[in-house]
Amino acid sequence: MPAAVLFPLCQLRAATDHETRVSVVETPAVSSSNPYFPANRAPLAPSPFIKLPIGSITPGRWLRHQLELEARGLTGRLPELSKWCKFNGNAWADPQGQGHSGWEELPYWLKGYGDLGYVLKDEAIIKAARRWIDAVLASQEPDGWFGPRTLKEGLKGKPDLWPHMVTCNVIQSFYEFSGDDRVLPFLLNYFHWLNTQPGEDFGAGYWPKIRFGDNIETIYWLYNRTGQVWLLDLAKRIHENMQDWTSGVHDWHNVNLAQGFREPAVYYQQARDWKFLEATERNYRTVMDLYGQFPGGGFAGDENCRPGFTDPRQGFETCGIVEFMHSFEMLQKISGNPLWADRCEELAFNSLPAALTPDLKGLHYLTCANQVQLDRNNKAPAIANEGTMFSYSPLEVYRCCQHNVSHGWPYYAEELWLSTPDRGLCASLYSASEVTAKAGEGATVRIMEETDYPFGDTVTFKLFPARPMRFPLYLRIPRWCKDATVRINRQTIRLEARPLAYVVLDRTWKEADTVELHLPMKISVRIWEKNNNAVSVDYGPLTFSLKIGERWARYGELAEWPEYEVFPSTPWNYGLVLDERNPAKSFKVVRKAGACPDQPFTPDAAPIQLRAQAKKISAWQQDSQGLVGKLQPGPAKSDAPAETVTLIPMGAARLRISAFPAIGTGKNAREWAAPKSATSGKAGGLK
Ligand SMILES: [Zn+2]
Repeated sequence: MPAAVLFPLCQLRAATDHETRVSVVETPAVSSSNPYFPANRAPLAPSPFIKLPIGSITPGRWLRHQLELEARGLTGRLPELSKWCKFNGNAWADPQGQGHSGWEELPYWLKGYGDLGYVLKDEAIIKAARRWIDAVLASQEPDGWFGPRTLKEGLKGKPDLWPHMVTCNVIQSFYEFSGDDRVLPFLLNYFHWLNTQPGEDFGAGYWPKIRFGDNIETIYWLYNRTGQVWLLDLAKRIHENMQDWTSGVHDWHNVNLAQGFREPAVYYQQARDWKFLEATERNYRTVMDLYGQFPGGGFAGDENCRPGFTDPRQGFETCGIVEFMHSFEMLQKISGNPLWADRCEELAFNSLPAALTPDLKGLHYLTCANQVQLDRNNKAPAIANEGTMFSYSPLEVYRCCQHNVSHGWPYYAEELWLSTPDRGLCASLYSASEVTAKAGEGATVRIMEETDYPFGDTVTFKLFPARPMRFPLYLRIPRWCKDATVRINRQTIRLEARPLAYVVLDRTWKEADTVELHLPMKISVRIWEKNNNAVSVDYGPLTFSLKIGERWARYGELAEWPEYEVFPSTPWNYGLVLDERNPAKSFKVVRKAGACPDQPFTPDAAPIQLRAQAKKISAWQQDSQGLVGKLQPGPAKSDAPAETVTLIPMGAARLRISAFPAIGTGKNAREWAAPKSATSGKAGGLK
């Protein structure tokens, strides 16, 4: 990571009036201290951003609707479906830790389920989560171990420490929301026990060894709240004995990558050596350069990444999507680098919605940038995993994702706003929301954020401080936005709001002061040289995909919990006809009139569409397993007539082409070869 993105090299100061100081910085200065929220305590590196307590932020509009759908859908009702979430006889609910289901599933679900309740302030969910949490807290042995006793000797007589890492996250959120005084002693007792384990045990087992960075994060969280220095010795011992993520990537499981790659940056907070921050950025780039050569923010890891399987038709697991987002949210706070927020938005807007049915009652295992049919048939070995991976289901066929998807939207909603060391507030991830937090001299300020972002390009903030109060308001400028403008109380502020920076408005805020941030979106075209020069189209943070007719075919036996295959009902095998000199000019943006719908992530509801010219490529077909054919060298030759096609946001397209061949002309155009055995590339496909 270059130094320039870590610390403010250039502060642009432009006094626009006698009371507003305006600056543009790469990251907040960490020299001041913020007494209102628990930031890193010395000797940990100071935090550029500080998480607000859960419950401080109330999301609105489409994001709130995703959470409400989640509450009514799979996550909210999972105990009806999952044997791992049955309370009676559950090892996580038993005071002696005896019983069934004593592994990752229950904590995976509970970690998002509890947060869903806290974010929505949904009393029924909070109460149901509390029942489990109370049981876990009551299960602690005198030595500090808690939960399932079988795990204590789960790895050939050694403890299997992975599920406890997830359970710690459950307990942390519960504490942030409730301040329950049982929590800190409980976690201290557990880490006292962990501290009695020999170092080599932190390198034991497959999942724990690779994911132990999760526990290091919890240990710092606990240290910041208790100041007990022995915790830092434990964190150091874990770092030194677990999988080495600092020297590079040594494991290629998609979920391990999505959470493990960040470990050096987490440990950076203790080591205070930039090489650890750089290692995390290098890990990210290593994975994405090899396997992330298509839009959507994920990578080709349809269980493990495999050399040669890098086409956009490879998938990314739903667990991978939500864990990658969680990593980016964490890294945003650790590094202060706004690039992580961009990376998080890319996944949240373009990949996560498409991994789920529009009612959030089902999901699939694998989401691909190019995915034209979601049937339940086996796609191995083209896809790494055997069996059903593409069709939507609420059932245990997708066991891990079925539980772990729970935290995707709630964690995202908790990160919309962050506190800063200089006692300010930062609008980090843009969404309609309301935040209430202490700032400045310590009075409470309420800020209402109104926007349809990413379907709108204007964000309006209305501030209601308890009394007039000076504090800095940070606004993130995304990487794609070159011409951001800011108005305060309708007066334009003179500034140079470059991408990947924060505009800081430091002034004495008064009741009903209004800030309007305009983030003009433009079409941009990306070329994926490593995937046969495929092209993808972005408009602001949204990637666009071909709109393909969807024929949903229900299956399964549960009346209330249908499973679905989705088949294409219109042709999909198009290459784009691009203006060679200015590819962005090839697209027309069409906005729907009216308010942004509550669920914008469907083909019909999508508030923004693009129109483009395209030609069919007859040799591009589905293979005998129903998978979209691999991309071939482009630009592609086509003698078909040009047609006008519609593109919709990738997150709204359950069937999609997002990495398109470009149509070539003359000598440059490459003839594609038809596969030897294939089904039609037109409507229909496998049945
Ligand atoms: Zn999974």
